[in-house]
Amino acid sequence: MAIQRFPTQLLINGTCVTGEGRAEPVLNPATGDVLCEVREASADQLRQAVDAAHAAFPGWAGLTPKDRSAYLLKIADAIEANGDEFASLESLNCGKPLAAARNDEIPAIADVYRFFAGAIRNMMGALAGEYLPGHTSMIRRDALGVVASIAPWNYPLMMAAWKLGPAIAMGNTVVLKPSEMTPLTTLRFGELLAKILPPGVVNIVCGRGDSVGAPLIRDPRIRMASLTGDVSTGSKIMEAAARGIKRTHLELGGKAPVIVLDDADIASVVEGIRTFGYYNAGQDCTAACRIYAGEKIYERLVADLSSAVSSIKTGTQQEPGVEMGPLISARQRDRVASFVDRASQLPHVEITAGGSTSGTKGFFYKPTVVAGALQDDEIVRSEVFGPVVSVTRIKDAEQAIAFANDSEYGLASSVWTKDVGLAMNIASRLQYGCTWVNTHFMLVSEMPHGGVKHSGYGKDMSVYALEDYSCARHIMVKHNA
Ligand code: NAD
Repeated sequence: MAIQRFPTQLLINGTCVTGEGRAEPVLNPATGDVLCEVREASADQLRQAVDAAHAAFPGWAGLTPKDRSAYLLKIADAIEANGDEFASLESLNCGKPLAAARNDEIPAIADVYRFFAGAIRNMMGALAGEYLPGHTSMIRRDALGVVASIAPWNYPLMMAAWKLGPAIAMGNTVVLKPSEMTPLTTLRFGELLAKILPPGVVNIVCGRGDSVGAPLIRDPRIRMASLTGDVSTGSKIMEAAARGIKRTHLELGGKAPVIVLDDADIASVVEGIRTFGYYNAGQDCTAACRIYAGEKIYERLVADLSSAVSSIKTGTQQEPGVEMGPLISARQRDRVASFVDRASQLPHVEITAGGSTSGTKGFFYKPTVVAGALQDDEIVRSEVFGPVVSVTRIKDAEQAIAFANDSEYGLASSVWTKDVGLAMNIASRLQYGCTWVNTHFMLVSEMPHGGVKHSGYGKDMSVYALEDYSCARHIMVKHNA
């Protein structure tokens, strides 16, 4: 669908308003062209957004779960009804293939709101009872207040859903800041929310991290800060939150190990890595990017994977059959290139696919395989966040577990083997928020997503997210008798 106009207004207290701060250009990463400019929220507008969320909180939290659920279902319907427009905007602004945005992301986003619409009506908990004679105790689970939600650029509307779904289902109100690089779908969503939700329940402010994100979190009325972003940003947000004793929810980076044992079905491993290592141009915190391959299958895996990866069709958003788009920015492309350039200088490393930029316009980098990488190499240890997969030889399953856990990250992992018992054993010993067996990357709204170690803490999706965005309270009643 051709985009007729770009949404550029913020959402404050139920009204769409033009930002009064600095104008930020928004680019098409496939060409480098400026699509439009979005003005940041001024300090005054930021205060108004928090005012609105603060004022809306008691009324919103006081609604029954059934009534909040009805609003979430309307949001899901609006996402679907405007699915073509959302997909076009998202693919244009992020550079991702239109088909991926339309067929993968939009249905999953609608499903997140539908899941929370159902889950909030069905929360379970401890039994009420007399834990002290003559006194009945019961547990409540209540909303926290105003949540500041800060989203990244890789899946803007999806990350907004992961944050807004549990927060507003639970009865919180939100001030949401999308990434300054990819605000367009969130702003269009704001136009729809203005017609669906009571004023102030969700407010959307745009701007950079230091000019808008940081002061938002400092506002004393913010009770919780939720970030999906870089580890260094998570650290800054924790410091700011520490000063105000605020709850934090941090989904940070990843460097997913993919353990391929000698008995694995190589064809499905290759197909899996070709898909899950390069989806969204590898700009995915769960990307299958750190392969540990058994001695016996190493050579074949590298050969077959390199050939498969070389066949990934890269191109602009609407090219027929395109599988991979550009990186988000020239800076990100150059960062990815520098990782590969440094790895290629190592005597034991061989770049068996890709290894260079491509195209004359836009921020394209070829899908790349770095073979022969060793555990201590930077390419194995650091998050590249691009279409680059490293392959490291392992002696056996024990070494694979040790290598996989020898990482600062702990978000996602996978094990590929025909021996399900062994896979279960390995899964029980991996220090990751998620372990897939004979697949990778598959997410469902019912199951939690989130990390350990530097990948952060707190869960997106699932009933665990409702717990994160609420607090358990004890009510005790003394009996008259
Ligand atoms: P980023 O940390 O640069 O930015 C994320 C958001 O934080 C942006 O909206 C930015 O404006 C804001 N921000 C930056 N500094 C801030 C500050 N001091 N105070 C408040 N807000 C601030 O990350 P990015 O480059 O947009 O996204 C890529 C990173 O996100 C990668 O490291 C990736 O692994 C991670 N990520 C993690 C998950 C997950 O679920 N764990 C999902 C997607 C992306």
